[in-house]
Amino acid sequence: MSVLVYTESENGKLKKNAFEAASYAYKVAQDMGTTLTAVSFGVADASALGEYGVSKVLKVQNDKLKVFNARAYAAVLAEAVGQEGAKVVILSSSTDSKYLGGLLAGMLKAGYVPNVVAAPDSVTPMLVKRMAFSNKGFAHTEITTDAKIIGVSNNAYGAHENKTSLEEASFDPSLGEGVFSTNSVNIDKVSGEVTIADADIVVSAGRGLKGPENWGMVEELAKVLGAATACSKPVSDMGWRPHGEHVGQTGKPVASNLYIAIGISGAIQHLAGVSASKVKVVINTDPEAPFFKAADYGIVGDAFEVVPELIEKLKEF
Ligand code: FAD
Repeated sequence: MSVLVYTESENGKLKKNAFEAASYAYKVAQDMGTTLTAVSFGVADASALGEYGVSKVLKVQNDKLKVFNARAYAAVLAEAVGQEGAKVVILSSSTDSKYLGGLLAGMLKAGYVPNVVAAPDSVTPMLVKRMAFSNKGFAHTEITTDAKIIGVSNNAYGAHENKTSLEEASFDPSLGEGVFSTNSVNIDKVSGEVTIADADIVVSAGRGLKGPENWGMVEELAKVLGAATACSKPVSDMGWRPHGEHVGQTGKPVASNLYIAIGISGAIQHLAGVSASKVKVVINTDPEAPFFKAADYGIVGDAFEVVPELIEKLKEF
């Protein structure tokens, strides 16, 4: 029996959240007195997983699985769980992994808890701490089923090095009938170089910027910081920015290390999706803007003055 971790990848490379999930899974495996097996898709060199406590990686190399397909990936993971006799599966809490986690839970009849933010309170019984009430609180949740699935939030537990001797094995799943009920033929990326889900830093702007023509400074600030760009819902609704940048309760969730909100009032629906970020910086002309109550640092000022100045200062470093 081992603990199994699904390690996300993009263009053949493991993502940051793969190492975070592996680090978390290693902690669970250690507490359970067992080893950690990873499953990777389309990754030629998975050796880095050995730095994060993984003892064995099952490498899936199949052209049909090059693009993420939740149902097919869930079927592969379920097969790997059977082969390894795993009782606990760890994955990230990205949008893809949440989709996958739900399907896998159905297949394994497992209890599934996503948005977990800390090492388990205990492994017997399995008690984990997760975000609750739109990220306004925490719930300590026991998973009572035999099979258990845990989704780890980005930038919560972190990636911790634990050098382990790694065995790399190829895994050729059976991919039974009906597994490919949907098929993504092509994926058009709408966001910039850094995706919101993977970003350490997110620079986000709202209606306070008055119009799409003023996003140059937001993009420049993001470039200087190596950040992803995001926006509030009305901004994408009005077509100022692509929908892929909409963050909040009904948009993408953000759990970055740093979230910079420019000209965003801080409505409850916006905060619900971004408050898992570690440090929040708010730039707003209105000192009464609700976002200041949720901010770690606030600048009361005009974005059209503050942001260019910030860019100049940051360029000096
Ligand atoms: P506004 O509320 O108009 O705020 C603009 C801010 O800019 C103000 O605080 C103003 O003081 C400031 N400002 C103006 N000029 C400047 C300047 N020159 N420099 C600096 N600051 C300036 N919203 C989301 O974002 N995400 C969601 O997922 C989401 N889901 C929703 C779901 C539901 C069911 C509903 C009903 C609403 C949802 N909303 C969501 C909308 C949300 O309620 C707010 O309307 C929205 O977040 C406001 O966007 P905003 O802050 O950009 O605009």
